[in-house]
Amino acid sequence: MNRLREFLEKINTKVGFSGLVRYDEPMALHTTFRVGGPADVWVQADAAVFPDYAAALLRAAADEAIPVFILGHGANLVVPDTGLRGIVLDTGAWAGVMSGANAVSGTAPALRIRSGTEVDAAVEAAAQEGAGALAFLAGMPASIGGAVYMNARCYGRSVSDTLIEVEILDEAFQRTIVPFRPEDYGYKKSPFQNRAALILSATFRPEPRPLAEIWLEIEAHRQDRERKGHYRFPSAGSVFKNNRAFGKPTGQIIDELGLCGLGFGGAEVAPWHGNIIINTGTATAADIRALVDELISRVHAALGITLEPEILFVPPHSPVIAA
Ligand SMILES: Cc1cc2nc3c(=O)[nH]c(=O)nc-3n(C[C@H](O)[C@H](O)[C@H](O)COP(=O)(O)OP(=O)(O)OC[C@H]3O[C@@H](n4cnc5c(N)ncnc54)[C@H](O)[C@@H]3O)c2cc1C
Repeated sequence: MNRLREFLEKINTKVGFSGLVRYDEPMALHTTFRVGGPADVWVQADAAVFPDYAAALLRAAADEAIPVFILGHGANLVVPDTGLRGIVLDTGAWAGVMSGANAVSGTAPALRIRSGTEVDAAVEAAAQEGAGALAFLAGMPASIGGAVYMNARCYGRSVSDTLIEVEILDEAFQRTIVPFRPEDYGYKKSPFQNRAALILSATFRPEPRPLAEIWLEIEAHRQDRERKGHYRFPSAGSVFKNNRAFGKPTGQIIDELGLCGLGFGGAEVAPWHGNIIINTGTATAADIRALVDELISRVHAALGITLEPEILFVPPHSPVIAA
């Protein structure tokens, strides 16, 4: 830990860091499941220094083989009870929406959004500009970076349906624009899942629509999520991916097998929704893992199909981002 402290103090002085640093930070505070042991160190750099700081930090960490985990809103994560080794870099302060003709040179007015921006804040900022592109994401707990990384999907649309380009810190720690190519994206898949890159911002087509229509859509989605019990207990939304080959939504499959309410420790399949696992108050990451494994095994035994988790079980050591 002393090595990490010295490492961080050296980098932070060199780059002129401003922001928050916490040692032994419980990750349960940073995940919507509210589980996860301590990160050796959690760092949230202010927006004024974020890209330069992130580049310097990632480069130096790679040189010293220190793992760095990039944290968005923590809405799709199961962090181990033993916590995370190395550094957690929280993007949360790197927030803001730039819009207008200059947001992306040479193209129509677009929305460029920093990766740490809360999805709901981005949805509202876009709506105020008359841009309807992001309304489908209303009410989804996430950062823009996490939504792009996961290619989040809801109400029949995916993030990739409206993406123009993504700015990243690439594997050589350079700011690089990655233009959207449809072949790189799929159901809950983005090219960033196979890269050691930090998403800095994403640029979206605005899809102008009448303001009232956009706000109606936003409200409808928020109310629908409320009705479906998304916010009743800590969770990470859908646990398993849907699969057309199954013929019906995964939640319905689990429900029809009578597995709603199945529990393991403090983790329970939501009694009202087969594809949501809730933390009833005392769940550990191990409880969630055990329940997920139990569901996979019971569904396989009953129907011969294999459910694929959508939630990410974070390894205790992230891969070291290397040039
Ligand atoms: C109540 C609820 C409802 C939900 N509903 C939906 C839904 O309808 N549809 C859906 O698709 N998902 C849904 N989710 C899941 C979650 O919102 C999405 O998976 C979302 O995309 C996660 O974003 P995040 O910022 O929380 O990412 P995190 O959970 O913080 O991280 C996810 C992954 O992205 C990586 N990452 C995050 N930011 C960056 C970055 N800037 N650069 C590089 N990598 C990064 C992380 O390292 C990690 O590997 C729901 C979750 C909850 C709690």
